[in-house]
Amino acid sequence: GCVMAGSGAADAEALCAPGAGGLALLGLAPNAPTCPHGPALLFVKTSQGKEEGRRFYACSACRDRKDCNFFQWEDEKVSKSRLAAREEYNRTHQPSHTHRQNMERYKNFVLLPLAKRRFCQECQQLLLPEEWEKHSNHQLLCEISTAQLQSPSQLLYPLENKKTNAQYLFADRSCQFLLDLIIDLGFRRVLSVGTPRLHEMIQSKASKEEDFRVRSLLLDIDFRYSQFYTEDEFCHYNMFNHYFFAGEAARETCRKFLCQDSGERVIMVTDPPFGGLVEALASSFKRLMALWKDTEKEDAISQEMPMFWIFPYFFESRILEFFPSFTMMDYQVDYDNHALYKHGKTGRRQSPVRIFTNLTPRMIVLPAEEGYRFCAICQRYVSSGNQHCEICNSCTSKDGRQWKHCFLCKKCVKPSWFHCNNCNCCALPTHTCEKAAAGCFVCGQAGHKRSTCPSLSHS
Ligand code: SAH
Ligand code: ZN
Ligand code: ZN
Ligand code: ZN
Ligand code: ZN
Repeated sequence: GCVMAGSGAADAEALCAPGAGGLALLGLAPNAPTCPHGPALLFVKTSQGKEEGRRFYACSACRDRKDCNFFQWEDEKVSKSRLAAREEYNRTHQPSHTHRQNMERYKNFVLLPLAKRRFCQECQQLLLPEEWEKHSNHQLLCEISTAQLQSPSQLLYPLENKKTNAQYLFADRSCQFLLDLIIDLGFRRVLSVGTPRLHEMIQSKASKEEDFRVRSLLLDIDFRYSQFYTEDEFCHYNMFNHYFFAGEAARETCRKFLCQDSGERVIMVTDPPFGGLVEALASSFKRLMALWKDTEKEDAISQEMPMFWIFPYFFESRILEFFPSFTMMDYQVDYDNHALYKHGKTGRRQSPVRIFTNLTPRMIVLPAEEGYRFCAICQRYVSSGNQHCEICNSCTSKDGRQWKHCFLCKKCVKPSWFHCNNCNCCALPTHTCEKAAAGCFVCGQAGHKRSTCPSLSHS
């Protein structure tokens, strides 16, 4: 899920660049203290790539201190009374109902006649008649239909707070594309990690169409979903520290789901918030892969669990660092509640969000109606603007626009870039040179600008 509402992809690119913010993640330490979101992660401040200062623990899930202000120095001595207070705090900061209680409530809710089915928009909760009183001053939705119960992502408001949940829901077209692709590839089980809308599409089809055989298990930190799904359909999970809130039983549910009995192949699909903790995500995904491997028969020892990791293209090198077997697909994933990232031609901007996968690229067929075509040399589907570069011998565009080859950089670059002789690399014409800031962007000499550079006069 993309995060940067109101800012363009370029800003997001800068904000999310590795090292931005000056914090380095050291990871999940064995005896890490816990906050309401499970074990905290170990961080250290950095300056110019070097670790600096004391290491500290902070919440894994919330990058906004307003959402969870857990903080502890690594070498800090925590008193018994503070530990007890912390435990008490963690206990009291859990959801008011357990998953099981929510299931009990749901059973009673669906027995109610339509006229008595109410949903509190303020508390984001299905209400039973005896609770109406308590919510009398709240905004309520009435006559909640079965169709609405099957689309909780429409009923619940998206948690858009930038830093923590960043809930950006797939546009129907993208969700349908993903599901069709999954089915065409022969998968029958989907581990949906932070993809409630995909999960919902699968669940709702399974309940309507008798010969629809795909099953999904949703892992998400958004506990509101436990009102709509059983413990076999939803696990309260934190993907930054691989934490199952309901403990071993939930982990076991997940492990069982990953068992490929009766040849039902499984794929994991994830669309995490992209706040920069790529290594934390990668480490959790590796643990999920290991859970899958545990369940595997001998013949698959060398294999990896198939996966779609949905993430912006400018994280390509970060993802490949952790998953060298992955390839980035050109398909642009679109979102409903993100005005900036609507589809190319009709929306204001092209989505920067892509699918990264460890499946063979040529198997990922992209829709011709949307302009994607097959490059026989690259053996993968590419976007219409992505031209095969003879020199690079690959379809080099990352953002869907046609890139151009720079002979000096020896690679393809964005169409808006020019080779800067000062910096000795390609950059936006508006960039500030690292060396002589005042010189011409093209030749580097003082006294004229790029538009009047004598070295360009022949063209
Ligand atoms: N496009 C997806 C939603 C992606 S938004 C869809 O339409 O289905 C990111 C999702 O990740 C949200 O559902 C959010 O609740 C979930 N999420 C955010 N932080 C998380 C965390 N730490 N652990 C697990 N899930 C998280
Ligand atoms: Zn209420
Ligand atoms: Zn090509
Ligand atoms: Zn090139
Ligand atoms: Zn160049």
